[in-house]
Amino acid sequence: VDQYLARIDENQHLNVFTEVYADEARQQAEAVDQKLAAGTAGRLAGMIIGIKDVLSYAGHSVRAGSRILENFTAQFTATAIQRLLDEDVIIIGRQNCDEFAMGSSNENSAFGPVRNAVDPDRVPGGSSGGSAVAVQAGLCLASIGSDTGGSVRQPAAFCGVVGLKPTYGRISRWGLIAYASSFDCIGPIANNANDAALLLEIMAGPDEFDSTVSSQPVASYTSATLPDRPLRIAYLRDGVESAGVDKSIRDATQLTLNELRAAGHIVEPVDLSLINYLLPTYYILTTAEASSNLSRFDGVRYGYRSQGDGTSVMDLLSLYKKSRTEGFGAEVRRRILLGTFALSASYYDAYYTKAQQVRRLIRQETERVFEKYDFLLSPTTPTPAFRLGEKTDDPLQMYLADIFTVQANVVGYPAISIPNGTDANGLPIGLQLMAPPFAEGALVALAKNI
Ligand code: GLN
Repeated sequence: VDQYLARIDENQHLNVFTEVYADEARQQAEAVDQKLAAGTAGRLAGMIIGIKDVLSYAGHSVRAGSRILENFTAQFTATAIQRLLDEDVIIIGRQNCDEFAMGSSNENSAFGPVRNAVDPDRVPGGSSGGSAVAVQAGLCLASIGSDTGGSVRQPAAFCGVVGLKPTYGRISRWGLIAYASSFDCIGPIANNANDAALLLEIMAGPDEFDSTVSSQPVASYTSATLPDRPLRIAYLRDGVESAGVDKSIRDATQLTLNELRAAGHIVEPVDLSLINYLLPTYYILTTAEASSNLSRFDGVRYGYRSQGDGTSVMDLLSLYKKSRTEGFGAEVRRRILLGTFALSASYYDAYYTKAQQVRRLIRQETERVFEKYDFLLSPTTPTPAFRLGEKTDDPLQMYLADIFTVQANVVGYPAISIPNGTDANGLPIGLQLMAPPFAEGALVALAKNI
């Protein structure tokens, strides 16, 4: 614990932690020491993790990277985090992220941007940017993030670490601050696929507090193996051929595909005819869900409340308006407006209903791919980590960073991002592997194999 605390101190400039639980982590470590001596320690005894600032931890503040949760303290602990604590994990702190997990660069945080440890002028990715850099810079052994459209995998790719998004419903979302409830997944970020698998194994499984959790038995993801036959691996043709993808990333992906082919696997290209509809579908549905989820932050029930001009008493509507205007950042306000528009009476059918229909078509097309193949591979991102400020004025450019990651969330499938070399500037490149629902074991096994 002391060693990690020292490293956190030396790396303040990366702006990774919004709060460090120094004394508490030391106490946890002492308690674990005693359990180890008594032979009663859990499976994660001594594992030091950080948690993204969207996960509730009783008695600790949770801010979702936002001003609107100022002075708010969690009253209960997220199921996923409780399960880790029950196995004697040590939590060293709370990690910076994009406000309400909305973003791809960690520049939307009320706590300021996180910096990539490979090059502090570059973004770490988002929204779990703090969680990825924490592992990248050795500020903890693993992190727990959340992934609604790539927020675990994209920062993992930008930082050269492993990020795992499980099947939708594999891990309880109880205690995770909601962004888009039919997409949100909790997922681990780690140095290697085995650590990620171990954390998944412990967090996964039924929970009476989240009705969307699957009752499928939880497998031992750490000991899963690949079938004893050539694997049928599809790859997204655009990922290695599209001019929109950086050449270094196309080349790195191609190299890995060649190696898989040389190892005797069947490796074939597939096209996704609906690829151009992925981002519109994702952004219409997630903003719609967000506008509903975030309506609870009204200045009355939680956190920040506007003081108005400080002289006259405000009526209730002004209190709501002022608190939300002052409490939410620009991107969150943009998405609430977009989502409210998509859900409004005159546009509901044209946008929300249509996007739900397209979501079903994307799911069907994805299912067809997995009728023929065991895995679908692509780069995790079209570019390596970009410079801070480079895309902040252009939300559409920013949304393009998610082109390869959103599919897994739109269809609810598991996917993992693993390091796949670096570009000429030493910037990490990520490779994404996707598998059918509940095939996390195979996913981890292939990740280890690669
Ligand atoms: N970058 C995507 C977005 O802004 C994904 C975020 C996430 O997965 N939480 O919505």
